[in-house]
Amino acid sequence: MSRFRFQLIAIASLFTLFSCATKKITTTPQPPTPPQTTVQQQKAPKNIIMMIADGTGLTQISSTQFYHSEPSNYERFKYIGLIKTSSASDLITDSAAGATSFASGIKTYNGAIGVNTDTIATPTILEELSERGYATGVIATSTITHATPASFYAHVKLRRMEEEIAEALTNSSVDFFAGGGLKFFNKRSDKKDLLAQLKKNNFEVNTTFLNTDMFMRQDKKYGFLLADGGMPKKIDGRGSFLYDATALGLSYLQEDKDGFFLMVEGSQIDWGGHANDADYLIGEMIDFDKVLGKVLDFAKRDKNTLVIVTADHETGGFTLASDDGNYNKIKPSFSTGGHSATMVPVFAYGPGAEEFSGIYENTEIYKKIKALLKL
Ligand SMILES: [Zn+2]
Repeated sequence: MSRFRFQLIAIASLFTLFSCATKKITTTPQPPTPPQTTVQQQKAPKNIIMMIADGTGLTQISSTQFYHSEPSNYERFKYIGLIKTSSASDLITDSAAGATSFASGIKTYNGAIGVNTDTIATPTILEELSERGYATGVIATSTITHATPASFYAHVKLRRMEEEIAEALTNSSVDFFAGGGLKFFNKRSDKKDLLAQLKKNNFEVNTTFLNTDMFMRQDKKYGFLLADGGMPKKIDGRGSFLYDATALGLSYLQEDKDGFFLMVEGSQIDWGGHANDADYLIGEMIDFDKVLGKVLDFAKRDKNTLVIVTADHETGGFTLASDDGNYNKIKPSFSTGGHSATMVPVFAYGPGAEEFSGIYENTEIYKKIKALLKL
């Protein structure tokens, strides 16, 4: 036997010794093995809050870093992904097709609200969860009948059919809503009085102010229509509407034993982008960021709430380039008055949040929520 072979045998015997020792330990009673991965440890979320910052890409989010004195609430997320936003009809999506992808998990044509490419209605996550006993809410700074909120409760061929969308909301399973769009309920071309119809359908409706101190009954629904069209711009004195409406919605919805689904849209970040108006855009962005802080505080306390924050698309081709080559001075600028095709980020917090990392299609958000809820 060569010395080398002897060494090999010696090492092998050592291994045997060690493995025997290990075996002995494993035969003694052991405490239950903890789950192997954090994914398995995660329980299913009870509540879902989806926040849509319309028209918000990375640059819009970055602007909070340079134009706001407080750290951005976006920095509180650990799980971040990117979505591809093209629609079935166009490389660059609009808000209707984008929100329908989130709400129904399908790619459809630009302009479509809750319908597929054959204009057939597709069930939305809000409707599906409502059927399972969830309380539901939609909040926006646009008209409440605008493309993004509408895609969660209405099914029409074209986004501009806001009177039809108002009728759909009136008869929908939505329990709480707040936003603008009063004229589509009380100054309609068909002369119908949808405010009366809302009351008939168990809604308490307020068209003058957001009563943040109100006592809310679980056997009632609540609707706030606080402007004829969209709500005012933040820089024109909208005040804390989005924050207060979200706080009020949360205090009402969280009382539901079965859980809730809430969609909150920062609608006018997109409008600031369309207008190529950086002050408008950044004002809306900071407003949304504050609401995000409120929602994250709620989710942190609650521990059963999954928060998903994303955008339907980027608007404006917004950049934070230097001012004439001076790298110590930023001059916000735009490359288009429309939307862009760039991927947009997804941020997730709460049970199941890690599922939202990676790069995927916008339709996956719906599928991921349903998988987490085991639906
Ligand atoms: Zn837009």
